Amino acid sequence: MTLRLDHFIGGTWSAPAAGEYFPSTNPATLEVLYEAARGTEEDVRRAVAAAKEAFGSPLWRDLTATKRGHLLRRLGDLIGEHADELAELETLDNGKLLREMRGQLASLPEYLYYYAGLADKVQGSQIPTNSITMLNYTQREPLGVVGAITPWNSPLTLTTSKLAPALAAGNTVVIKPSEYTSRTILRVAELASEAGFPDGVVNVVTGFGQEAGAALVSHRDLAKISFTGSTQTGARIAAETASRFIGSTLELGGKSPNIVFGDADMSNAAMGVIAGIFAAAGQTCIAGSRVFAHRSVYDELVERVAERAASIIIGDPRLATTELGPLAFGAQLEKVSSYVDIGVSEGATVRTGGKRPDIELPGYFFAPTVLTGVDNSMRVVREEIFGPVAAIMPFDSEDEVVGLANDTEYGLAAGIWTQNLARAHRMARRLEAGTVWVNTYRAMSPMSPRQGFKNSGVGIEHGIESMHEYTRLKSVWINT
Ligand code: NAD
Repeated sequence: MTLRLDHFIGGTWSAPAAGEYFPSTNPATLEVLYEAARGTEEDVRRAVAAAKEAFGSPLWRDLTATKRGHLLRRLGDLIGEHADELAELETLDNGKLLREMRGQLASLPEYLYYYAGLADKVQGSQIPTNSITMLNYTQREPLGVVGAITPWNSPLTLTTSKLAPALAAGNTVVIKPSEYTSRTILRVAELASEAGFPDGVVNVVTGFGQEAGAALVSHRDLAKISFTGSTQTGARIAAETASRFIGSTLELGGKSPNIVFGDADMSNAAMGVIAGIFAAAGQTCIAGSRVFAHRSVYDELVERVAERAASIIIGDPRLATTELGPLAFGAQLEKVSSYVDIGVSEGATVRTGGKRPDIELPGYFFAPTVLTGVDNSMRVVREEIFGPVAAIMPFDSEDEVVGLANDTEYGLAAGIWTQNLARAHRMARRLEAGTVWVNTYRAMSPMSPRQGFKNSGVGIEHGIESMHEYTRLKSVWINT
């Protein structure tokens, strides 16, 4: 019999109000893994009510910040203790390499530990005003019930990036994970309960975006929405939250440039380009999908990247030898495949890949693909494909590549490969991207803030700055 998972509300499992469940499938084998509760407005209402009650309860409200930190630390320990289990569950759900998931799980507790340490360092200040009789000070307060909506490509890391600062600041949370990856997030909520967070502080309602997600966004008792997902959904959420004057943190799509100069270490640059676009089968918001190579090294880079891409071992993401797993679900495969067709119809050349690889597993696999003969006017260069498709283009000068790299609606990340330090600094300053990597790609840490520029988002995740996203500032005046 198929495993059935309910919502996690008020510290306990809660059957869906409408009694409906939906299947979650292993994208490598197409086997049904489990059925998750299909959340409706009523389930969201229950979850927000539980979170609101918990926010007002002395069990949470009167807990000192230091004790909130202890709970976060305990949750970090529990995630560490269950790392193998969580890594395996997420690999089964979204097809990410188990090897990569184990790496992610090794650092996931650090997110909890980092915000545990910050919990009792959220300070206000005493302000010298223009009156000597007045004492004026500020304090930072939690917002209330925070809604967290997350995607399927990296559920554990992206959800923890919201949960940890939101809880450290003293909020309560209702999470709506992606309909493709409910399981690990439900497990984290269960572990939060085991860690000692009071009932109702962490709640999960599973289900579809248009249903449970939309109900959460429009709930009147929400103080904030923290969202990671597509720019289209982010725009809808931004319109809704703006009309109610509540805050939102939006981490959205990308079409990041990865720029290789003529003086780069070509072996490292080629590896960086490959990891930048083919990691997680290209299903990362920061994917370096637009590769710009200086004309003097263009042919060499194309050759190196295409050759390596053609030799990448595709298969079961649980095997240690596998280098590329499947796309996460059928519609993803159709989307990626149709973009390659669009590219070809626009005049692109497929140097390698461009189709489903010839392997026995029935899942949603797509071969690592390298497109040449492309330029900034083409849809494959302008739109987010979210798959293992690299478009490689030549450039002649620094000024030209800055113009090409910035000619996009997105501004999430950028990579630069050069041995010229002055050029690296110049480029880092001129690129319109929230994160710039020099001679590396995909480096990330809970301590380092990240923000999407332009249509890639609003607000900051990670770092001390993220704590402020989950507090509001109050100014207190006392007539002495
Ligand atoms: P998506 O926008 O389709 O869905 C994201 C989440 O929003 C899911 O939980 C979904 O159920 C929910 N949702 C969908 N419609 C909704 C609605 N109308 N109201 C409320 N919730 C709704 O995105 P996705 O396909 O799951 O994720 C891929 C996208 O996420 C890509 O564009 C990628 O670049 C982006 N992403 C960004 C970051 C970042 O940090 N900037 C990180 C990872 C992924």
